[in-house]
Amino acid sequence: MDEKIFVAGHKGLVGSAIKRELEERGYKNLICKSHSELDLEDANSVTKFFDEYKPDYVILSAAKVGGILGNNSYPVEFFVKNMKIQLNVIENAYRTNVKKLIFLGSSCIYPKSAPQPLKEEYLLDGKLEKTNEMYALAKISGLKLCGAYNREYNTNYISVMPCNLYGLNDNYDSQNAHVLPMLIRRFHEAKINNQKEVTVWGTGKPLREFMFAGDLAKCIVFLLENKNASDIGEFINIGTGEEVTIFELANIIKDVVGFMGDITFDNTKPDGTYRKVMDVSKIKSLGWSAKTPLKEGIKIVYQDFLENKNIRKNPIN
Ligand code: GDP
Repeated sequence: MDEKIFVAGHKGLVGSAIKRELEERGYKNLICKSHSELDLEDANSVTKFFDEYKPDYVILSAAKVGGILGNNSYPVEFFVKNMKIQLNVIENAYRTNVKKLIFLGSSCIYPKSAPQPLKEEYLLDGKLEKTNEMYALAKISGLKLCGAYNREYNTNYISVMPCNLYGLNDNYDSQNAHVLPMLIRRFHEAKINNQKEVTVWGTGKPLREFMFAGDLAKCIVFLLENKNASDIGEFINIGTGEEVTIFELANIIKDVVGFMGDITFDNTKPDGTYRKVMDVSKIKSLGWSAKTPLKEGIKIVYQDFLENKNIRKNPIN
């Protein structure tokens, strides 16, 4: 409980859930730095930070993330920022003898046409989805680098690849949000403005798996406390193993928000990968599974959205 744990990205969706979970469990020495205090893209600042604070454990949940539109429009930024953050943090963790590091990636690392559900062994078996290829390449590099450190220098770095996530402190930016927060915002604003319909991008047919970030945080702490890289292998999927179509998701959100109008689909917007569901047998075999049902999680998140008006960036279009 007294060990120094650096939660990189503690203001984000995942990092804030991990920070809350660690605090609730009684960890007293969390190290959290805002972006203005520590720029993780800057190698000198990160080196100085590790020398000064000497964390025992590192959870690398800081990343440049975004939905299908942001990823598709800014491939350079999604690659360069993530590569810099990862290299700076992982290299310094090694240099200062961090005992365990947890690296967070994403289910988009898998090939576009990989068999479903996605098993860990399918990594690098085919071409990536174009809309988020550069983000995926950065995350694949990160997990491979952790694996290489483990092999070459006998470190204890664990890479986890979560499915699509949602939770408190999510990003509701109209340009850059993922589907679940974006639809919460769109249905809410349609309800308030008495609109007759809400537009959902794509065909509504793609299948996705959504996990509450609080569940992921519980899993990360479980791994931190109980498992080592040797139990995990190269990396491990974390998800619910359950999927919904975007059409079903839109209807659940419509119901939770209480919007009475219609849903229409905009086929000019991309669908992205058709199906993305994780095989979660490996994490289940280690004794962990997700607990929050989708509709329950969406109710919690909608309440958070109503109470925190400051999280809504940019006017909706
Ligand atoms: P992905 O899982 O990496 O593709 O990320 P997203 O969360 O951005 O998109 C998931 C799916 O939801 C895609 O098929 C999108 O076309 C669809 N979608 C429907 N409406 C929206 C929306 O308003 N915003 C986003 N980001 N995706 C949407």
